[in-house]
Amino acid sequence: MEEVLTNPKAGFYINRDVFGAEGDFITSPEVSQMFGEMVGVWAMCLWEQMGQPKRVNLVELGPGRGTLMADLLRGASKFKNFTESLHIHMVECSPALQELQHQSLKCMDEENTSEGVDKRSLSTLAGTPVSWHATLEQVPFGLPTIIIAHEFYDALPVHQFQRGSRGWCEKMIDVTEDSSFHFVLSPQPTPATLYLMKRCKWAVPKEVEKLNQIEVCPKAMDLTSTLAKRIGVDGGGALIIDYGLNGVVSDSLQAIRKHKFVNILDNPGSADLSAYVDFASIKHSAQEASDDVSVHGPITQSQFLGSLGINFRVEALLQNCTDEQAEALRTGYWRLVGDGEAPFWEGPEEQVPIGMGTRYMAMAIVNKKQGIPIPFQ
Ligand code: SAH
Repeated sequence: MEEVLTNPKAGFYINRDVFGAEGDFITSPEVSQMFGEMVGVWAMCLWEQMGQPKRVNLVELGPGRGTLMADLLRGASKFKNFTESLHIHMVECSPALQELQHQSLKCMDEENTSEGVDKRSLSTLAGTPVSWHATLEQVPFGLPTIIIAHEFYDALPVHQFQRGSRGWCEKMIDVTEDSSFHFVLSPQPTPATLYLMKRCKWAVPKEVEKLNQIEVCPKAMDLTSTLAKRIGVDGGGALIIDYGLNGVVSDSLQAIRKHKFVNILDNPGSADLSAYVDFASIKHSAQEASDDVSVHGPITQSQFLGSLGINFRVEALLQNCTDEQAEALRTGYWRLVGDGEAPFWEGPEEQVPIGMGTRYMAMAIVNKKQGIPIPFQ
């Protein structure tokens, strides 16, 4: 899964823009500017709770086109004390997407003054410095940090286990003589089995007993641990928004190409692979990694955006726009907070928008010094 998504030559994310109506799938920041603005409100509130530090790292994991961060900065640009404190760090493995993010943030590269010093970029949206990294570990330590991960965790590789006469066996992929792929079961325990055991310990026995398949995501558990340790030491917090479950995930790995589900093994690298995020395992990983952090949620995206005041924002934007923009704002608002099939849809049935309000969930991991983050009270 990791290879299919991020291989430097053939990975799905590496050489192209996969987002939006023309691409393979659409995400909340691409649906409406209000999404990034609301995440900005969340980040600003946390910064207040942190005591308005003069210097803060604002990190985004997997920023896609950079739309969320651009809307966040535009929305926050009037709050100078906040924006002047920020150093933005974009964690992105795809050079093509890094370039798109550079454009979205309207970055200007500073002249390199001395040899061996990294070239810095400045986003002209709010006058903030921006740096790019391939992994979270490369973001410098030592400053309080706000981390945003929107639809990042679902792209991390999962391992699937199946219950059989030999107990739990990992599902692996084999190549047949005609060079096509098919699933097989591992003859012996695999390294990921350790993560399965850990995951099952966190579950109540009833939760596991009823399942014949379990998915675990070791990368998600390790990333959460890294992130929680950093927040525990440096202060700040993380916001994770994604689709998933607040418990053990059974069998959710899916492939999407041009807005349609396709076979996972069909033409790898040409379709997005993603899996449900197991929020309960994120919570346990964070709590295990650091005594200095607290975990809040998950709550639904609709609760999250609603409590942050998205209804006031949509009303304000509707005061000053064309009829066409008003239509887009209302549709975007519904897609972000609505549930089920769009009631207003008049187009082809197979293209009916599905609301993201309850399918997506928000979770926060914060340094205990910060108290309970808004709106998780
Ligand atoms: N947050 C964006 C994009 C989500 S898609 C949005 O909501 O629109 C996932 C993003 O994570 C892409 O930018 C992809 O290139 C990046 N990504 C996926 N796996 C990664 C990894 N292992 N390391 C760094 N970035 C990764």
